Order: sequence, then C-alpha cells, then structure tokens
Amino acid sequence: MTQLKFDDQFETIIEDIPTHHFWKSKDDIPPQVGEFIRQTSDNRVLMTVNGEYFCPFCFHALDDHGTCIQCKRTYHDYLGRTDSRNRILIHSLSEIPSRVSTTHYYVFDIHGKEVILYVIKEELYYYSPVPLPPENLDILDVYRSTSLSIQKAYYVEKEDAWELITKRKIHYAQIDMEEDVDLLEDYAEACYLYSENMDLLRHTVYRYSHLFDAKPYGMMISPNFGNLVYGPIYYPAFEYMMKKGFYHLAFDGGYRISYDKTMKKWLQEQTDFIQEYQLGYEEFLAFQLCRKRDFSLISFVKGYTELLEEIVKLTHLSLSRLQQYFEEQHLEQEMLIDYYDYLQFAKQLGYNLKDKKVQFPPNFQEAHDTLWLEQEMIQNPTLEKHIQELSNVLELNRYEDEQYIIFPAPSLSSLVEESEQQQNCVRHYGNRYGENDSQIYFMREKKNPHQSLITIEVRNGKIVQARTKYNDIPSDYLQQVLKRWEQTLIDVRKE
Ligand SMILES: [Zn+2]
Repeated sequence: MTQLKFDDQFETIIEDIPTHHFWKSKDDIPPQVGEFIRQTSDNRVLMTVNGEYFCPFCFHALDDHGTCIQCKRTYHDYLGRTDSRNRILIHSLSEIPSRVSTTHYYVFDIHGKEVILYVIKEELYYYSPVPLPPENLDILDVYRSTSLSIQKAYYVEKEDAWELITKRKIHYAQIDMEEDVDLLEDYAEACYLYSENMDLLRHTVYRYSHLFDAKPYGMMISPNFGNLVYGPIYYPAFEYMMKKGFYHLAFDGGYRISYDKTMKKWLQEQTDFIQEYQLGYEEFLAFQLCRKRDFSLISFVKGYTELLEEIVKLTHLSLSRLQQYFEEQHLEQEMLIDYYDYLQFAKQLGYNLKDKKVQFPPNFQEAHDTLWLEQEMIQNPTLEKHIQELSNVLELNRYEDEQYIIFPAPSLSSLVEESEQQQNCVRHYGNRYGENDSQIYFMREKKNPHQSLITIEVRNGKIVQARTKYNDIPSDYLQQVLKRWEQTLIDVRKE
C-alpha cells in the first residue's frame, strides 16, 4: 500500500510513500528479534590483540572450553576463524572503562510481496563513574549498558536494487527514523542477519537468490548492505554460491567474481575446501592465486593478492617459499609492500629477479636499504657529493665534551645506517640535506661513536627535531646539552 505525495499545487505526484506499519522505534521490534539481538550481543566475548579472551560481563579470563573462570557463564563459537566473529576486539582490558562497540543487525520483514530491510544499530557501552587503574578493573566499578535504535528501513524492490547497481545511487523508501547514515560505509564492528523468518523470502523478489538457504549458517555477515539488497537479486552467482553452501563467500560479495565455465569447473573441484573453511571474498581471491588448499598460505596472501600477483610475475617464485621466508625473517604481512619495493630497486639496478639469492637475501631489511641507497645514488648522482661538501662545512659546528660528541652526518649511507639503528625515517632526508634545506647531525657517546644516540635536524641555525631510538624524546639532561650546543650554532645558509 502506498500513499501519494503531490507537489504544492496538487498537480503532479512527487513520490509514493509506503504506508505500512514500519518499525519506528525500538518498541516496534518484535520480541523474538529482540531476543536474538540480546543473545547475540551477550555472546560476544572480549578478545585482546594478543589473542586472550575475557568474559564481557565480569572481565575474567575464559578457560579452554569458553567458560568464565569467575561467573561460570559459557560462550560458544567465539573461537571461529572468521575475523571478529562473536568477538569484541580490544587492545587491553585497560580500555574497557570507556569502550563503545557498535553492531548492526539486519532484519527482513515482508508485507505481501514487498520486502523491507531494517537495520538496527546496537551500541554497547562500558563505563566507569570513577577513573580506574586497569589493574584494579572490577565488575563492581564498571557498568555495561546497551542502546538500540532503528537507523533505516529499506523498502526493497527489484527496481531499487537496479538503481543501486547502475547509478550507484541509493533509492529507498526512507521512513522517519531516529538516525540517518550512509550504510554503504563499513563502520560497524560487526553485522548479523536475523535468519529465523528467512523462509518468508521464498515468495518475494529474493526467491531465486536462495537467501533463505542461509538459515543454518552462522549469521555474521559483511558490513555492507549492498550485499543484501542487490547482490542476491542481480547476480546469478549469488544463487549458485548459496546452493553450493559457500555462505560466507556469497554474503561477502563473492558474487562479483567473474563466473565462467573454467571458474565453475574449478569451484566444483574445490567445493569441500571452500565450504569447510567458509572462505570470504578476499580469501577466495587469495586461494585463486595460490591454488593450494593451505589456509595458512591463504591468510598470508589475503588482502595482498594483486601485489603478490605482480611479485610472482616478476620473480616466478613460489608463494609458499615466500611465506616461509617471511617467517624466517620475522616480517609482518604488511612488509610485502617493502618486499615489492625491494624487487623494484633490484630490477632498476639490473639484478636477476629470478635468482634465489636476490629473492631471499639473508637479511631483508639490510638488503632493502642497501638497494634503496644504490638506486637513490644512481637517480641523483650528485647527491652524495653535495652531502659530503655540506658536511665538511658543517664540521665547524662539531661539538665535544667529556661524554658526548655531535657531528654532521657525513654521507648518504650514514643516514641509512642511522635510520636502521634508530628505527626512524632520516634516510629519506637525503635530498633535503643535499640541498641544504635541512641539516642532519648525530649526537653520540664519545666512548661509543658508532652507536646511534640522537638524530638531530637543524634548520636556520635552530634544532627542529632531536630524537632518540623509535622517535622518542631525549632525556632532560641530553636536552640541556643540545640547548647549549644550539646557542653556539653557526648558521650555514643555502647559497
Ligand atoms: Zn564472567
């Protein structure tokens, strides 16, 4: 049923406003849906970045069976593989007294043949009326409360979905709701789909999507509402994936995968693996690239598929071997970007990228920095000369007392070495230093002159930065020494 809205003269219909009884506030949410939300919410355990699990009610640790050692509540399914499934990720318990966690619940409702999709936002707050030292964290001092609001109700029609897909514009019947936000943005920590009433979708626009087959699947889904509104209706691959039991893949946007004969054949062969691990979209792309039923390798490739494809093209190396190398070198997955840069430097310098010695240097960071330096010198052949000349002039600012020395960085390679020792980015100051836009000095202990202590940047005769390892601030005493030295500085200006 719709209501017509006219323009001011009552001549033209501007829009049709549906006049169902929409849920407008949390009081309209049916009891069984409310119960689903409450249970799902209460089952989300706290997980630290170190992989420790805590009870979300009393903050005590959970045992191996998921039972709280203090209050004996038991939690299920939180050890699932999928990121953040039934978990609230925290850095440590100390952040609990001010933690807010946002979760979305998607609920379909059907009126005749019309489908409405509600989005219910839950905010879970922990708060403490008094500031708490984390070691004393106690349930008696921390309160937990939740609030529910209905953000939007989408009136789903085939035409609407079409509009979304073709014009990238959202067309929906928006009812007067408590909040209005862009749902294509992924900002909730987790999203769940209420599945108890999914059978009703059999007689709607979703009938070919087999969305209702998802009922037995854990109802955690990707936080993108397009995956629920247009994916199932417009992509035959969605239906195919639901029928195959690739639930996570279907809901995660896997229907965007190009879907031809070869792909179908391959999917057929990999059915049991994809089902068992419930691969998501990024994992599937990774699996497609590495073609090995090795979940640890897939996790290594996941999120970096395009980059690794490039790397394989350049080197013909095996991804398993690369993963092993990363483990040996204690390199995080993000370092794949540095690894790619390293290969680019090597290529520019004429190394053979198919040579194992080039692919797997004994110390990656050192090899990376060395090649970076080499290619930097080739790109800018006069840079080293400029740095050395300036350094010679700046020698007049050399400082020396009983304990410390301060001297200008003598070369480009000294910047790289300082960078490695101090874990800072002074290596990138080469050009600035060579042009005398910035002057770089090193402060060191006299008895240990090769060991970095403080990296100093000087501009117009003033210290603009002085940092110890990891960009920390020097001690008060050292700052006093620096202050005294700064007053004696002779300003060597750019000519
Ligand atoms: Zn507990």
